[in-house]
Amino acid sequence: MKRVYMDANATTPLLPEVMEAMRPYWIDHFGNASSIHLDGQLAHTAVDSSRATLAEFFNCHDAEVVFNSGGTEGDNTALFGLLRPGDHLITTAIEHSAILAAAERMGQRGVEVTYVAPQPSGLIDPAEIERTLRPETRLVSVMLANNETGVLQPIEEIGKIARAGGAFFHIDAVQGAGKVLIDVRRFGCHMLTISAHKMYGPKGVGANFVRRGTPVESLLVGGGHERRRRAGTENVPGIVGLAKAAELAMRGLEDETGAEGAREGEELARLARLRDRLEAGILQIPGTGVNGAHFPQIPGAPGPDFRTWESTNPVPRVANTTNIWFDNLEGEALVIALDLKGVAVSGGSACHSGATDPSHVLLAMGLDKLRARSSLRFSLLRTATEADVDYVLQVVPEAVERLRAISPVAAGTAG
Ligand code: PLP
Repeated sequence: MKRVYMDANATTPLLPEVMEAMRPYWIDHFGNASSIHLDGQLAHTAVDSSRATLAEFFNCHDAEVVFNSGGTEGDNTALFGLLRPGDHLITTAIEHSAILAAAERMGQRGVEVTYVAPQPSGLIDPAEIERTLRPETRLVSVMLANNETGVLQPIEEIGKIARAGGAFFHIDAVQGAGKVLIDVRRFGCHMLTISAHKMYGPKGVGANFVRRGTPVESLLVGGGHERRRRAGTENVPGIVGLAKAAELAMRGLEDETGAEGAREGEELARLARLRDRLEAGILQIPGTGVNGAHFPQIPGAPGPDFRTWESTNPVPRVANTTNIWFDNLEGEALVIALDLKGVAVSGGSACHSGATDPSHVLLAMGLDKLRARSSLRFSLLRTATEADVDYVLQVVPEAVERLRAISPVAAGTAG
């Protein structure tokens, strides 16, 4: 059976070039980057040059790059490393659980936490951040792109507000990295988190940008690795893989630099067109709509009703993501039905798979529980094809029709 993977926001496969770059560091150049012999030096050199690549990716100094185990560690480090009892933290209600659970723990330890709610469009209003700032606000942490809706947040404006208020600013850029250009100077942040496996690199490795002089305490203590900011023997193959993924992502995002860059930049535009075609096709099904965007009514389509949306402007989103509600069915049932037809998508956040709780992101955007539970995220790989979209557009309407015919939600018996 044909399989179409449309769950790139959960994780991505390695690009072949990434695999090739990592290969020598498992067996041939296996040394410990802290050892002084040749084997260690080879590993150390690889970590150094990976750091230089990441510095370019972030637009920062090499010394401001800290390698770690991925997005969860990076997010945890920002909160646990910067906050102390008595401090105030501002974050948002739509963050990933790597931030929300860390915020909850800090809340139990004497940090006051404000969760700013998004607008129904999924956007965080910078004015709301400004309104909640206080003299004790030590940290503002806002994501670059939401993992469920793909909505890009106005982080430059938020950064200005945080700095003017004397607070540190952390960005969870896990879902933005590789999809939009990262530039920590322009973003005006003190810390930023990325994860390799969301950008065609290996799982279990990531990096923090930590602006020079930011007094973040290390999460892990032990050896003096990463300039005492993150103890533990370096994951050399993983770091090399992250750097290769970052290098390829940078090339993909540079539109105007040379023939190859231009071709790659067009790749993302192609992806956005594919996503838009997928979205428009699904919206032909009655009783459907997009979460996290304003779209004009599609002429002749019976379903989408955007009258409840306060925004009349399109909301910026990453190119690969759409999140769609389907009235009168359970999203989980649709995920399973599509999986049986070879299509991998997810309802809500993958980290909550198995749980039937509706997505906290969609609830925060004002969806009721039924509609939040009926929502699915389609997140396309960069290698997605027209044929993939054709196939999904063939199986989704069939599955929806079948499920609605038997759905207890449709019959009004499920709360
Ligand atoms: N932040 C966001 C926005 C994410 O989407 C994820 C993963 O889904 C994470 C953090 C956690 O990253 P990792 O899986 O590398 O721990």
